[in-house]
Amino acid sequence: MENIAEYLKEERSQPWRDELRKSMKAKERTSIERVHMPEQDPVERSHNYLEVNLGLTEEMAITEAHRCLDCPDPTCISGCPVNINIPKFIKKIEAHDFLGAAKVLKETNALPAVCGRVCPQEVQCENSCFYTVKLKKTPIAIGNLERFAADYERNSGKISVPEIAEHNNTKVAVIGSGPAGLAACGDLIKMGYDVTVFEALHDVGGVLKYGIPEYRLPNEIVDVEIENLRKMGVKFHTNFIVGKTASLDMLREQGYTAFFVGSGAGLPRFMNIPGENSVGIYSSNEYLTRINLMHATDPDYDTPVHDGKTVAIIGGGNTAMDSVRTAKRMGAKRAILIYRRSEAEMPARMEEVKHAKEEGIEFMTLHNPVSYEADEKGRVTKMVVQKMELGEPDASGRRRPIPIEGSEFEIEVDVVVVAIGVSPNPLIPHAVPGLEMSRWGTIIVDKETMQSSIPDIFAGGDIVRGGATVILAMGDGRRAAAGIHKYITEKVKK
Ligand SMILES: Cc1cc2nc3c(=O)[nH]c(=O)nc-3n(C[C@H](O)[C@H](O)[C@H](O)COP(=O)(O)OP(=O)(O)OC[C@H]3O[C@@H](n4cnc5c(N)ncnc54)[C@H](O)[C@@H]3O)c2cc1C
Repeated sequence: MENIAEYLKEERSQPWRDELRKSMKAKERTSIERVHMPEQDPVERSHNYLEVNLGLTEEMAITEAHRCLDCPDPTCISGCPVNINIPKFIKKIEAHDFLGAAKVLKETNALPAVCGRVCPQEVQCENSCFYTVKLKKTPIAIGNLERFAADYERNSGKISVPEIAEHNNTKVAVIGSGPAGLAACGDLIKMGYDVTVFEALHDVGGVLKYGIPEYRLPNEIVDVEIENLRKMGVKFHTNFIVGKTASLDMLREQGYTAFFVGSGAGLPRFMNIPGENSVGIYSSNEYLTRINLMHATDPDYDTPVHDGKTVAIIGGGNTAMDSVRTAKRMGAKRAILIYRRSEAEMPARMEEVKHAKEEGIEFMTLHNPVSYEADEKGRVTKMVVQKMELGEPDASGRRRPIPIEGSEFEIEVDVVVVAIGVSPNPLIPHAVPGLEMSRWGTIIVDKETMQSSIPDIFAGGDIVRGGATVILAMGDGRRAAAGIHKYITEKVKK
């Protein structure tokens, strides 16, 4: 957009927006309390996989939408990595035009039902809301309203399918079907490209399906979005590992003109401490994939996980929180989260921490495992943990954890899940000679176009950023789609 301020001014001056603004005084709007998202009872939900957040009713959504002041300088928009026109979609909700609200969301966000559920809004749009910045009050529940509008559209069965440009018979390959890949193919198909997604796993969706559990993001919601892309003409090839099943050169020979690599950061990290390869110690990726995608809880499937009585999860991010809450649902009597810093430094979303505590998760902060012990069959039975204290801030800006000498003690455990971070998937970088990489194993790209050092290869999401977020991955996918379009258009002109 050339001039966003001018555009927003024009938008705001439309009669329907003007009328809404005048319908309620600002003072009245700011006196409304933020509408609370209804939730499943904590005791009940800690034994099932149903969604924790139940969604807003129409009445609740309209009340929350009344709070939005439709400010002249909506800083919330720049707080959103994909620049959703937030005031416009909220005002559509206030005007009872819920399908209109969903349409506004979809102008810049291909997966609003997903983002409304899992985006860290508290550090993005909601953190830039006028209520937070100027009024020092609780921000508008932008994420909850986004989820409401997207769910309303899905439940109404009137899902708007975007306009698709005339087919240009140019083949583009998208490698990886996580949010980066899905966002890229959503834009590319709209531009008229012949888009094929190659996915290594047997199911499409990346972390949205194999990582984030059902009780936060039901697979069914992701499937609806994937089905829409299918209806728009995107082709999906599963069980296809680019770099193994076929090389990029083989795909070039099949006529693919450009590639988007959204292969994520699925390589687990371990602590490399004694006993860590005992049976019953999982990486969070393996643990969650077995449960979310491979039916580990169903005895008819061959992919079980040990369902321990005492399960310890190591880490303090979203993945650790998802793993520990899953362990509780799998029947653990004691599900313990062991984190080496204090709760203030935890990277997990505040909402997840709150939900975990309500569900009876034991938080053991300022502790770190130093070794594991196993029985004669090699199964983990104990872990030795050491107490920690906080020192000066490190490179991440968080206070450095320092071990306290002589503070070690033992905990009996049956299962351990290591959730201390992930690294970029190395397969594509290894399979493509000459691709410029950083020392962290991420693909180096131009930040505007997402083009790599090899002109027909573009990349985005976690393979470029390391472990990041869904919305950042989607933003990358969209920028790469525009970059690919520019690259192909210029190539054709030559
Ligand atoms: C458990 C967990 C919880 C999270 N919770 C949140 C959250 O609440 N909010 C949030 O914003 N973010 C969250 N994140 C982070 C977020 O999910 C990721 O940042 C995001 O999914 C990255 O998207 P992506 O498309 O780059 O990669 P991915 O989602 O990882 O998708 C990459 C896909 O590429 C496939 N692939 C890899 N190599 C190949 C190959 N050679 N050929 C074909 N296919 C290949 C993989 O199988 C995978 O399906 C979470 C992550 C995890 C693991």
